[in-house]
Amino acid sequence: MERHEIAIIGTGPAGLEAAITAKVRNKSVLLLGGKNLSTKIEKAHMIKNYLGLPEISGETMQNSFRTHLEKMEIEITEDRVNTVYAMGDYFAIQGHSGMYEASAVILACGMSAARHFPGELENLGRGVSYCATCDASLYKGKSAVVIGYSKKEEAEAEFLTEIADKVYYLPMYQEEAAVNDKIEVRAGEKPLAIEKKDQKVQLITESGFMEADGIFILRDNVAPSQLVPGLTIAQNQVTVDRGMKTNIPGLFACGDITGAPYQYIKAAGEGNVAALSAVKYLADIK
Ligand SMILES: Cc1cc2nc3c(=O)[nH]c(=O)nc-3n(C[C@H](O)[C@H](O)[C@H](O)COP(=O)(O)OP(=O)(O)OC[C@H]3O[C@@H](n4cnc5c(N)ncnc54)[C@H](O)[C@@H]3O)c2cc1C
Repeated sequence: MERHEIAIIGTGPAGLEAAITAKVRNKSVLLLGGKNLSTKIEKAHMIKNYLGLPEISGETMQNSFRTHLEKMEIEITEDRVNTVYAMGDYFAIQGHSGMYEASAVILACGMSAARHFPGELENLGRGVSYCATCDASLYKGKSAVVIGYSKKEEAEAEFLTEIADKVYYLPMYQEEAAVNDKIEVRAGEKPLAIEKKDQKVQLITESGFMEADGIFILRDNVAPSQLVPGLTIAQNQVTVDRGMKTNIPGLFACGDITGAPYQYIKAAGEGNVAALSAVKYLADIK
């Protein structure tokens, strides 16, 4: 497997700036995230406080970030990272679509507003999963409930119908779910908690409960504590020093994931610092 020098997880301003700085410093960069960059850029109506870009819409900013990446010949590997494992002298990164390796990793995943359901963490790997692509094979001929926090999760639910016998889909967003007719959509059903019941799992909802062999919770952000085992977190934010170093050697974090203020320029600035610290780390371990 190819080992990249620096892997960057997240394609918001923090991750993009980290990627650009690492590339300027001639490092091999793996940029993992989404080709739409960040919904927090896309959805901004008018931005007035980004240096050099007075009164810019989110859409225009998104296009100009994309142009910058193209000019630097930086490609985005479209994937969602599930877990980062510190292996000593390198990191193994498990994405929904594959495994990756890198000598240093920069977390730029944005703020996690994710609140776990009671019973979710206790049953993770025991009927609860965060990744349909990774775990679908466990549900051959079985039933699954999918809780999708954005429209793109509909594709994951549809993928599950190729394997599972019965798939229920709970859209946690405003738009109408457009999925194939093998899926039973339960719009408006509000999940409250998860309980283990014999070999099955029960999703307790506001209107009752749903029983299935598996429950897939597909959120945009994985909580940092779930993303990297052993990472020091305080109030759901990654603890870093001024060099954006975390408690794990070779692992850096930048942007909203490190805490307030939640601002584009702060995220981009921290991305720059994180990349320079990663470059120094690589030089030091050589
Ligand atoms: C509507 C709106 C308007 C705003 N207006 C302003 C403004 O005018 N001025 C200002 O300074 N700030 C503004 N902000 C705040 C600003 O958007 C954020 O501070 C900034 O986007 C943070 O950048 P980031 O790179 O840290 O995270 P994000 O922009 O959140 O990017 C993180 C990226 O990582 C991806 N990701 C997350 N988890 C994973 C994973 N496990 N694997 C792969 N990828 C992952 C996400 O999908 C996302 O693309 C606004 C925010 C919103 C929502």
